[in-house]
Amino acid sequence: MSERTRWVIGNWKMNGSLATNAQLLEAIAARGSGSAKVAVCAPFPYLTQLQRSLGRTAIAYGAQDLSEHKSGAYTGQISAAMLSEFGATIVLVGHSERRLYNAESSALVAAKAASAVAGGLTPVICVGETLAERESGRAEATIAVQLAPCAALIASSSRNIVIAYEPVWAIGTGKTASPAEAQAMHAFIRAELGKLTPAAANISLLYGGSVKASNARELFSQPDIDGGLIGGASLIAEDFLGIVSAA
Ligand code: PEP
Repeated sequence: MSERTRWVIGNWKMNGSLATNAQLLEAIAARGSGSAKVAVCAPFPYLTQLQRSLGRTAIAYGAQDLSEHKSGAYTGQISAAMLSEFGATIVLVGHSERRLYNAESSALVAAKAASAVAGGLTPVICVGETLAERESGRAEATIAVQLAPCAALIASSSRNIVIAYEPVWAIGTGKTASPAEAQAMHAFIRAELGKLTPAAANISLLYGGSVKASNARELFSQPDIDGGLIGGASLIAEDFLGIVSAA
């Protein structure tokens, strides 16, 4: 029997305002966590608001990126320790939008994940192939290359990491991988993890990419899918809570 935690994690991206967040957080806090662990990853300036709204609930929260460094002359960067000071317990690393717009390499993503673990945070390591990579039969090879620099961390800290498979072609496009396609990639990822650690069966693997309340149940019922990383639908309380119910 695996010990995998089921997760539903909202990624607000660069959205929100103090006023709209307040309404959304009130609804999420009122619903609470069910059998899945619920988390919200918000822009950095809203961490105090998350701490106030969610700090005394079972709902976790965190950020969408962090520095690979502990401290020092790194203008504009935010450390794991700083996130922890605001009660954050989770942080996204390697989201495809950061890989694309901020030219983040898989080596940098691995360094950020290691920095999160060293600072006591759970990194959600995001991987995923583009449409061109999928169509040329390179989806699995792409994921293997993205995961490779994280091998040592996965081997040493499998209990403290989460992996999100997010096909780039499904993020924010309304196109979702079919449950069978998503399951096949999750099974592949779990097999890759199995080469690194005997605890691969206990690592939570989340699916992300246009998850909605209407498709969440079928995706989350696949044997290797342990919940979801939710972008657009995490900004609307009813939609996000519908996905939480499906998990
Ligand atoms: C995401 O940003 O991680 C994501 C999955 O976005 P969306 O749900 O909007 O496709």
